Amino acid sequence: MNYRHSFHAGNFADLVKHALVLWLVKARQAAGPLTVFDTHAGAGLYDLSGDGARSKEAEAGVARLMSADGRTPLMDALAAEVAALNPDGGARFYPGSPLLIADALTPGGRYVGFELNPPVLAMLAEALTGRANAEAREGDGYAAVGAAAAKVRGPLVLIDPPFEKPDDYIRSAETAISVVRRDRTATVAIWTPLKDLETFDGFIRRLQGKAGSTLVAEARLRPLTNPMKMNGCAMVVVNPPAGAEAAATEICGWVAGALGEAGGRAEVWTF
Ligand code: SAM
Repeated sequence: MNYRHSFHAGNFADLVKHALVLWLVKARQAAGPLTVFDTHAGAGLYDLSGDGARSKEAEAGVARLMSADGRTPLMDALAAEVAALNPDGGARFYPGSPLLIADALTPGGRYVGFELNPPVLAMLAEALTGRANAEAREGDGYAAVGAAAAKVRGPLVLIDPPFEKPDDYIRSAETAISVVRRDRTATVAIWTPLKDLETFDGFIRRLQGKAGSTLVAEARLRPLTNPMKMNGCAMVVVNPPAGAEAAATEICGWVAGALGEAGGRAEVWTF
């Protein structure tokens, strides 16, 4: 297990995922307290000044978000969370999905994050210290989330694997299908990279006709001509709440427009 999210924290793909997750939490809990399961939680908090930030992806992502003029309201909402962690300005500290979600929950809401890598789990537990509504659990999030989600009604599930194993696409799709088949009121959001179209289309085909109403939010930084690069990313949301299409269009449009290259674009569609 070589993946370390700290090398990528705060990159453009995190901005897409985290801005949309923040919106999803707020939308889904409008009707009452929400339980959120994060199958691949990561460390929870990232120090972008450390060795782990050596890829400098954050410079092309969150650093530009924080200095941008004309942010849209949903990008502003994410920027406000980053600013709260950096009271002296800048973007040294960047929140992962665990902190963003736990801090967005209303009273009675609950966050459960699964993490397989013991050192990362220890960092997650430390990052969540003091948040009584949040819990870090050791384990395989794909395997564990079904039983955990079955104990609550209408959870939000985030599936955010490293995609370093070929079966991450298969397991993400199968996990999403089994969660929503058991509970039609659950929402499942899956993050994926966009490298080449066949990989992504194959993933979409796995969901089609099996998972229910689904929103696909793509932010492409450039045309998908080099499959060795992460040319963009997508959030695939099964059972999206009302308003998700507009929210995703705003977020992906800002990221592709402000951070993308020639030929970059946002595309939001449903099936
Ligand atoms: N969701 C996090 C965020 O947005 O801040 C980032 C998660 S990172 C992309 C993926 C994490 O999943 C890594 O920390 C990795 O150790 C962990 N991981 C890999 N396979 C896993 C599995 N089967 N179950 C739980 N965690 C896993």
